[in-house]
Amino acid sequence: MKQHIFLSSPHMSEEGYEQEYIKEAFDTNWIAPLGKNVTEFEKEMAAKLGVEKAVALSAGTAAIHMALKAIGVSQGDIVFCQSLTFSATANPIVYEKATPVFIDSDEGTWNMDPKALELAFEKYEKQGQRPKAVLVVHLYGICAHIDEIVEICQRYQVPLIEDAAESLGTIYHGRYTGTFGDYGIISFNGNKIITSSGGGMLLVNTEDAEEKARKVLYWATQAREPARWYQHTEIGYNYRMSNIVAGIGRGQLKVLDRRVKKKRYIYEYYRKHLGDLPEIHFMPMMENTRSNCWLTSVQLDADCKVKPLDIMQALEDDDVESRPIWKPMHLQPVFADCDFVSTVEGLHIVDEETGADNSISGQIFERGVCMPSDSKMTDDDLERVCAVVRKLWK
Ligand SMILES: *Cc1c(COP(=O)(O)O)cnc(C)c1O
Repeated sequence: MKQHIFLSSPHMSEEGYEQEYIKEAFDTNWIAPLGKNVTEFEKEMAAKLGVEKAVALSAGTAAIHMALKAIGVSQGDIVFCQSLTFSATANPIVYEKATPVFIDSDEGTWNMDPKALELAFEKYEKQGQRPKAVLVVHLYGICAHIDEIVEICQRYQVPLIEDAAESLGTIYHGRYTGTFGDYGIISFNGNKIITSSGGGMLLVNTEDAEEKARKVLYWATQAREPARWYQHTEIGYNYRMSNIVAGIGRGQLKVLDRRVKKKRYIYEYYRKHLGDLPEIHFMPMMENTRSNCWLTSVQLDADCKVKPLDIMQALEDDDVESRPIWKPMHLQPVFADCDFVSTVEGLHIVDEETGADNSISGQIFERGVCMPSDSKMTDDDLERVCAVVRKLWK
């Protein structure tokens, strides 16, 4: 019997660290939001990544929401947001009644194209408008052109949020992704490189990090004022992480480097065993980067006979999970009214069925596939996947 192969599934530490932290919480009856695991998890993550403050929250999405609130994004504001991403990146902009302006990617990183970002600034400056924030993503663990993006944001004095939900452990020039912007967010959702069953963290890098973190904590715990009765002057949220969840996260953080190593091994394996196929291109790896290789993704040439759907179907028939590339936000019906800035001229739909256009992000979506990248995969599993894919070229 062949075993099911997951795309990317929870992988607890071989040592059982998670259960030790959970046991401690049970033994002290600390089954609540907040508690020692939460405080320690925040401290350990901040120390590991080298940030001023980290605030543990119920989800990565909540962390993005809190970053936008900390910046003061509100009704009438625009936010420049990477188009090629998961909807969780963009949704919180709308929670605050602001408007996303989507930015195209470049082929060299699959992430926000600094040239398109510059174009967007120029376009909106002419209309006398400046975004309240810029939201960049490090998709699949690939580092964005972060130096250029930081420089542009500083020049226009606009705060930068890095969505590092998929890139925890990616290092660029000796620094972790999520620590370059004013705010960074990470996620511990079930399929991320480490998981707490669900949860996220906000990384705060501003000069007033202490104060901003305190404010986020306040919003995330129902905006309760320090009074002897329940006093509220603002709308709050129930976004805090529980002490049990944080216990799992603490245990997982201990094996983050091991998981990165394995994910990189998977990437290298696919490269070695599929890289000779003429029409297949692996996701980019920037120089001076150690990517966490969360999901090894490939892009096929436009004229390749094999289509992404063929690969996904063949794998599914063999009980192997794979996934399409995120469909860009500017192509989503829910964001149909939002502006999109690209260096590509003459944008038009090229595939009526999927709705893909000829933008860079549209083409990465149209021609890309996320390969199974589960850190529990054995060499036999990897060989099995490669054999299924190679067969399509015969
Ligand atoms: C997973 C993910 C999120 C959201 O994180 P949750 O913890 O699931 O809320 C945000 N952005 C990207 C790019 C993600 O992949």
